[in-house]
Amino acid sequence: MPFKHVALLGLGLIASSIALTLRKNNPSIKINGFSRSESTRNKAREIGFCQVFDSVSSCVDGTDLVIMCVPVGAMKDTMKMAAPHLAQGVVVTDVGSVKSNVIKAIKPLIPKDVSFVPAHPIAGTENSGPEAGFAELFVDRWCILTPTPQTPIEATRKVKKFWQSLGAQVQEMDANHHDLVLSVTSHAPHLIAFTMVGVADEFSKVTKSEVINYSAAGFRDFTRLAASDPIMWRDIFINNKEASLEILGRFTEELFSLQGAIRRQDGEFLQKYFERTRKVRRNIIEAGQDTSEPDFGRKSG
Ligand code: NAP
Repeated sequence: MPFKHVALLGLGLIASSIALTLRKNNPSIKINGFSRSESTRNKAREIGFCQVFDSVSSCVDGTDLVIMCVPVGAMKDTMKMAAPHLAQGVVVTDVGSVKSNVIKAIKPLIPKDVSFVPAHPIAGTENSGPEAGFAELFVDRWCILTPTPQTPIEATRKVKKFWQSLGAQVQEMDANHHDLVLSVTSHAPHLIAFTMVGVADEFSKVTKSEVINYSAAGFRDFTRLAASDPIMWRDIFINNKEASLEILGRFTEELFSLQGAIRRQDGEFLQKYFERTRKVRRNIIEAGQDTSEPDFGRKSG
């Protein structure tokens, strides 16, 4: 573990999971935390996963790693508050789900003798807030680092070790490519889920109680995604506009081709398509990124 004293700016799901994992795996590390609202600070104090401060400046004081754990759209203002108080040699990183725009927002604010290593742990749940965290969140999940040309290799190496100590596997990637990959694997699927749940909620031929009572596995999975934090997802789409629009364009084309196959009663086309998509699921299970249990291991059907 290359760091001795960590500051968490933002105290939600990701920050509390980082703190709980550090507590478990590296109990000697000091953990400071700050959140803008008094209620979140008090909740974090109650849970006790870090020492909570009432200002950004006191939170980062004396730390050697600062982790920005706020929504993507709040990174810039949070960094503005932290930057004047960062000591020489400090490493700054973040956990934002979008990388290019976060780099654009934060990099110009980073003091000369401070390193910035952008990062994104590919791990989360639909829950938010300090009480949502748990120590196993990052185990065997990927964390993508998108260092900029100015990021010192040594700082990237340290942040890599940090994430590995939390149980994650680490991969370096270009920031734009990260945004495109995540648009396919996370952002577009969430948007589709938001849309499907919105359609079900508005569709007047099926009552709201029918939607809730007869929700089959497919719809329930959409509702889990669609229950994710609205502010976090608002910021993701606003900050990953190009990649989101590119993938949604491709999605719409595919949807029309499936719609055409249904209209033509083209069973062969549909079957071949579904056989191909089924293989993707098998590959994810083989890579250890999900359970092979039916219905994701849920107890009831
Ligand atoms: P969360 O549980 O909703 O917590 C958000 C934290 O950010 C809270 O401390 C909140 O403070 C603070 N915050 C919210 N709006 C703010 C603003 N305008 N200015 C300053 N602080 C603000 O969020 P999270 O799930 O931990 O997500 C944090 C970051 O991790 C985001 O950038 C997200 O993209 C990324 N991420 C999330 C997931 C996931 O699945 N959740 C996965 C990977 C990465 P108050 O409570 O005091 O208002």
